[in-house]
Amino acid sequence: VNTFYASSQTCHCCGYKNEETKDLNVREWTCPKCHSNHDRDVNASINILMQGILAN
Ligand SMILES: [Zn+2]
Repeated sequence: VNTFYASSQTCHCCGYKNEETKDLNVREWTCPKCHSNHDRDVNASINILMQGILAN
């Protein structure tokens, strides 16, 4: 996994990057673009998984 990839900040639905989630106190956030609700850790896991799939 690319360490520069902002996994917890990126919406796995539309790819929107939320700068506010750099603050680790932000546990959940709603994507302003597609209005998906994201749990920071769950979203990060999904994105890391997707990265792994795309890398293969
Ligand atoms: Zn989104």
